[in-house]
Amino acid sequence: MKIGYPTHPRRDLVEEITWIGRNGFEFVDLFLEPDLGAAERVDVPAVRAALDGFGLGVVGHLAWYLPIGSPLRRLREAAVEEAVRYCDTFAAIGVDRVTVHASWPPGLFTADEGIDWQSESLSSLIPAAGQRGITLLFEPVGHGHESEENLARLFARHPEMAFHLDIGHFNLNHRSPARFARVFRDRLGHVHLHDNDGTKDQHLPMGTGRVEWEPLLKELKGFYTGTVTLEIFTPVREYVLVSRDLLRRMWAAA
Ligand SMILES: [Zn+2]
Repeated sequence: MKIGYPTHPRRDLVEEITWIGRNGFEFVDLFLEPDLGAAERVDVPAVRAALDGFGLGVVGHLAWYLPIGSPLRRLREAAVEEAVRYCDTFAAIGVDRVTVHASWPPGLFTADEGIDWQSESLSSLIPAAGQRGITLLFEPVGHGHESEENLARLFARHPEMAFHLDIGHFNLNHRSPARFARVFRDRLGHVHLHDNDGTKDQHLPMGTGRVEWEPLLKELKGFYTGTVTLEIFTPVREYVLVSRDLLRRMWAAA
């Protein structure tokens, strides 16, 4: 298991990578989105040099608000076009796995329509990413439509797409992250780790919410050796380092 940390898209990317490298993480979760992380503002050689300077691995992350499942066809097409443009930048940096987020339509529409619209966008995006050497990781966002059945139907349509388990998101809507880890284990390609109290997507430090960590880590350790990003949003980054040490300790004991 490798532990990483995201770059903040509103801070200088190289400074963010430097903090991540200096604090002993193994990879960077590169959040390319406005403003300072927008594709057109990224200094590709400088980012690559910073990663290499610390011997860091890297995974990519598109803006969570890309409307790939919008009821508006032209917005879906624009979302795919924008995602492909970002994949060009990711590929130039040498990123080979990129997260795209679930995007569900408003309540006027059904889950089936949401699956169809997302699937239509993914059918264009997956091969375009593939041509750039990139595997797409699909990250459910904690929406009520993300039942095991609905996600299984979506994944069945896209065998090349990997499953991104965001632990905090699967702790919402009375679900169990450990159960989704188990069900999608064969497709699991990346993990985001953060905590919440089950009511909102709070991105808290590990152990400060209601995620049941021990059974979850035991489940994951049984089959997963990949990347885990501490997606903890706090202005006081000591909490991130405490979470990193706690994760290492609990993983060893699981
Ligand atoms: Zn996430």
